[in-house]
Amino acid sequence: MLKAARRRISRLDRTLIVAIVLLTSVFPVELFPNAPPIPKGSDGQYSGKQGQVLVVKVPLSDRVTEVKGTFLDRTIPFFREMRPGEPAGYLGLVGIDMQDAPGTYELTIAIKNGEEVKHLSFNVLVAKEQFTVEHLKLPKDKVDLDEKSLARWKKEQEQLRLALAENSALRLWHSHFVEPVNGKRTGIFGSVRIMNGQPRNPHNGEDIGAPLGTDVAATNDGVVRITVDHFFSGKGVIVDHGLGFYSMYFHLSEISVNDGDLVKAGQVIGKVGATGRATGPHLHWGVKLNGARVNPYTLLELPFKNGFTAGATVATPSVEQIPSPERPVKE
Ligand SMILES: [Zn+2]
Repeated sequence: MLKAARRRISRLDRTLIVAIVLLTSVFPVELFPNAPPIPKGSDGQYSGKQGQVLVVKVPLSDRVTEVKGTFLDRTIPFFREMRPGEPAGYLGLVGIDMQDAPGTYELTIAIKNGEEVKHLSFNVLVAKEQFTVEHLKLPKDKVDLDEKSLARWKKEQEQLRLALAENSALRLWHSHFVEPVNGKRTGIFGSVRIMNGQPRNPHNGEDIGAPLGTDVAATNDGVVRITVDHFFSGKGVIVDHGLGFYSMYFHLSEISVNDGDLVKAGQVIGKVGATGRATGPHLHWGVKLNGARVNPYTLLELPFKNGFTAGATVATPSVEQIPSPERPVKE
């Protein structure tokens, strides 16, 4: 009886937490009337948590030469979006990196039309996400790298950096994103990692546990930027969806696409494996948006399907599934 009551309360708690998160996203200032005034960009304000994606719309009835945003030294290309029953305009997806420090930052948008340039200024409130702390035990040689492995890792990091550096001009993605593997999501995006007792880089994606050989699908249309076989991430595919949006799929047992291939949303690009540094078969799914590492699951929640909601913040969906202890899936 007591147990059932407790379960009910915890469910209620969770509902309240979700409600508060949603409220703070929409009304960040009004909720705390006694808080010191926050400087306002003259054109308004957005707010979101570390790892989330903000959808920003600039209503413009006419086509212009270019609409480009700048946020924390990242360039955000805007694209023309026409939806029946809505004012025409330009849309931009602003990613908040999982390690952007909480605070208020300016998002500027330059609207260029021929020689004429007009600027808009918004404030973006970045709120702290409560990331978990994970303790992992791994083979010593996968944590304390010898000189050769360290040199290899550095080279691979550079290869990845170059592959993700550009904002391809063509938008290939569309509004329907696909979950690449139907498996057990671990909910450890952004988690602080302590490996064999030593603090390491936070986890920059989401892990999905699934049996070895399970199909892995591309989350949206794109072009395969590179396929890799790296020390930590194992066999991997990086898909360029255009306008600086990249998705990554790591630890694969098999890769079934080649560099430069065009892929469709839902198309199989490889199979789940445990290559690289992994404690069991799983997919590591990562997303980079104009240089920001965001929670890939925010893509599935983008408010595009039933019409666009201007000013929406995409809250990270709650994790219902906890990884099974008998099959830890990490890295
Ligand atoms: Zn991972």
